[in-house]
Amino acid sequence: MLRPYKGWIGAAASACKRLAGQAARATQRVAPAEKIKEMRKAQTRKDLKKSRYRVLPVREEMRKNLIRKLKAGEILFADIIGYEQTVIPQLENAILAGHDMIFLGERGQAKSRLIRNLADLLDEEIPIVKGCEVNDNPFAPICKSCCEKVSELGDALEIEWIPRERRYAEKLATPDVTIADLIGEVDPIKVAEGKYLSDEEVIHFGLIPRVNRGIFSINELPDLAEKVQVGLFNIMEESDIQIKGFMVRLKLDVLIVASANPEDYTNRGRIITPLKDRYSSQIRTHYPVSPTIEARIVEQERRRFEENGYSVIMPPFMQEILTQVTFLARQSPEVNQHSGVSVRMSISNTECLLSNAEKRSIRLGESEVVPRITDLASIVSSTAGKLELESFSHDGHEDKLIRHLISEAVKQTFDRHFDVRSLSETVSAFQNGATVVVSDSLPSEEYVHQFADMKELAAQAEAFCPDCSPAMFASVAEFILEGLYLHHRIHKESLGTKSRYKG
Ligand SMILES: [Zn+2]
Repeated sequence: MLRPYKGWIGAAASACKRLAGQAARATQRVAPAEKIKEMRKAQTRKDLKKSRYRVLPVREEMRKNLIRKLKAGEILFADIIGYEQTVIPQLENAILAGHDMIFLGERGQAKSRLIRNLADLLDEEIPIVKGCEVNDNPFAPICKSCCEKVSELGDALEIEWIPRERRYAEKLATPDVTIADLIGEVDPIKVAEGKYLSDEEVIHFGLIPRVNRGIFSINELPDLAEKVQVGLFNIMEESDIQIKGFMVRLKLDVLIVASANPEDYTNRGRIITPLKDRYSSQIRTHYPVSPTIEARIVEQERRRFEENGYSVIMPPFMQEILTQVTFLARQSPEVNQHSGVSVRMSISNTECLLSNAEKRSIRLGESEVVPRITDLASIVSSTAGKLELESFSHDGHEDKLIRHLISEAVKQTFDRHFDVRSLSETVSAFQNGATVVVSDSLPSEEYVHQFADMKELAAQAEAFCPDCSPAMFASVAEFILEGLYLHHRIHKESLGTKSRYKG
């Protein structure tokens, strides 16, 4: 027979109310520093009370830790580059205000990283009722089984300390995410068997209750089905939730953070209005404002391996070209700017370019790994997967667009460092029949030989990169020739895997 659920809710609610009163009194006392050690050891509610440990709601706890960092002059989220003046100040305000927040931004703007970093503002450990699935506060439990334990055991109630990692969860919203995933599920058969709704076996808690007193992040919020958005709103606002027709009351204490693409978020109908209103702080992320900042991010994020005796050198102008490709893609009308061009494109292109150069050094037995212009062909594939084109187009269109972006990036970077007019002697040499063969598989020494008679170019290369090694010289020399070619001062012909510059 199905037992009425109303009874237990009322009973649990009044038991919890009494406990909440005790909690309020307990939390008014502040723990002195010398008691910290004792607190750590607290294994029962009695110990915890004695230690004067202060249980804080999650927003208070995050505020406390942020204020401590601000006082100490610490930089919040030091591993996030380029948001120091824009996103971080807004984020600090949102935390101080205790707001649920939504991050709006195109792909690859470190939204997930920002959200995950929020967990660093939680205490390292907090005490919960031992074994509780919803991390109950020992002084004010919300689940019925803990309320009952407290009534039965009083201060002998056992507690355990859980690390901050157990108080953070995230979920990528997709249309098939259900209330059961996020909030929980009631097993009607178990209810019919006579179990109380509150029994742990009857309610299977979802992700949000499991990070009670912590942070829950839902990524790409607009992809969540409307019904689930309503459930999410109810849990945030009313603490009540209907699960399969049963009303369940869960007074959760969770900071809910979301992320979304700005256009999806503002599109009428993608987000239910009350849920939108619930996010008090809306924080707009952005791409790096300059290629220099993008390059710093790449430097921090790119995957590194043991160099095994090779010395890997990324010439700054090559890095500039790579970030410039990304910047140009972000301005191209042929690229879908609504979804954006991730910083990850700069990162994976850097990794690809270095790999191509490394392969050459391994094959040729050179100890230096220095990428050159001919290695740029290797980033066509790593770029392709990261771009979403505006329209369906014929085969090869994407390749053509990427090659165009690369050429344009090389030209713009060249113009920042060289003046074609100062290379007139080199141009004349080509007009008089000189030729140079380049390839991503050519030994560096061959460049030194090929340019032996080109004094002007050698001098410019020397000025640009003093005392440079043969591998570095090969890279700079190719850069100069490609610059001249892109300015239509010399010609270039393809010889299969090699190219020849000529007059
Ligand atoms: Zn509990």
